[in-house]
Amino acid sequence: MRCPECGQDDDHVVDSRPHPDGEAIRRRRECGACGSRFTTFERIERPPLLVRKRSGALVSFEVARVLDGMARAAKDRIGRSVLEQAASDIERALRAAGRREVTSEQVGLQVLARLRDLDEVTYVRYASVYKDFQRPEDFEEELSELRKELPPKAH
Ligand SMILES: [Zn+2]
Repeated sequence: MRCPECGQDDDHVVDSRPHPDGEAIRRRRECGACGSRFTTFERIERPPLLVRKRSGALVSFEVARVLDGMARAAKDRIGRSVLEQAASDIERALRAAGRREVTSEQVGLQVLARLRDLDEVTYVRYASVYKDFQRPEDFEEELSELRKELPPKAH
């Protein structure tokens, strides 16, 4: 790796740590020339997963976008590491059985299923955007459906 500070290619790894999802390694590196430290991530390379949008357009699935959507709905209600875990569970579920293409609706439903278990307020906020709520009654209906359907917590 070329040092981002001085541009020399003379670094060594001072610390390696697996990411909580087990699919990445974070390495702290130190430049042998100037002593500055920087971080690299090593990830498993996977074939791209494509998302078919309602418009018919195909875009590549990006776990970061899923994470951003959830974080916006959660504000401060759910910790970052919990959301990261949920996002990587969603990706794993979408890629089940080697699937290469999913619909944006399948992505949204996976997110809703995860948020429903994590936090009711976040779930309803996300649903309001995803399902395009127009009236206050929409929230009430969603909540009463949620209460009806919510199975006993598995954990
Ligand atoms: Zn350097």
